[in-house]
Amino acid sequence: MPNPCIICVAITGSVPTKAANPAVPITITEQIESTHEAFEAGASIAHCHVRNDDETPTSDPDKFARLGEGLRKHCPGMIIQYSTGGRSGAGHERGGMLPLKPDMASLTVGSNNFPTRVYENAPDLVDWLAAEMLKYDIKPEIEAFDLSHVFQAVKMAEDGRLKGPLYMQFVMGVKNAMPVDKEVFDFYVKTLNRLAPDAQWCGAGIAQNQIVLNDWCIAAGGHVRTGLEDNVRLDRTTLAPSNAALVKRAVELCDKHRRPVASWQQAREILQLPLAA
Ligand SMILES: [Zn+2]
Repeated sequence: MPNPCIICVAITGSVPTKAANPAVPITITEQIESTHEAFEAGASIAHCHVRNDDETPTSDPDKFARLGEGLRKHCPGMIIQYSTGGRSGAGHERGGMLPLKPDMASLTVGSNNFPTRVYENAPDLVDWLAAEMLKYDIKPEIEAFDLSHVFQAVKMAEDGRLKGPLYMQFVMGVKNAMPVDKEVFDFYVKTLNRLAPDAQWCGAGIAQNQIVLNDWCIAAGGHVRTGLEDNVRLDRTTLAPSNAALVKRAVELCDKHRRPVASWQQAREILQLPLAA
């Protein structure tokens, strides 16, 4: 029996707006509705950012608190993951929501370039975010934008600075960062398996590469991320009508590769998270 595939839905992100796709959920109410549909479609992790009413990104802990409360009520059991990414705040602001104790939080352990700026993750900030996650018993999802990030995360887990076993996401196709390259993808997987045999991993591709990474990950036994944060289209001419529509596309790929889709219970078991939400 092949291992179940965890589907993560990245519902909003910091970048896409309603001008790009009116289905991008911006208000807390929209986010809860969109996540609920995606949960019913098969997603078991919700990767969350929050926005101001004018659609600009924020890291306001009150908004995260309201979102988390709504998700626990309407999507019971779903794994809640908050982003500590750098587009929504600076310095310690990026971890201001961690005392809310989400199941998981994203963590990038090194710097790289983004389309128009440096994605700055200085060692002292990374250590602080990691320490906060340990303090509040939050499992990190490591966002690897570069091979050095894989090595750094393994080292941090070995040193006890991260709650293991590692869960790592290989991000490909962000302009000016790691391109979508199958040999590099295979090397990422091989290297992580060599350095941390108990690690689990997933992958994310941006825009039209979302489905490419979904396919590679499902075929190689990993987990997947989809959602409007990374991609607002079904194809060149069709906007995705919802986050759920993108989740359904990942479910179809799981069927194609004969991978069962992980329930939230299975996802919690695989990630060694408590079953009680
Ligand atoms: Zn994100």
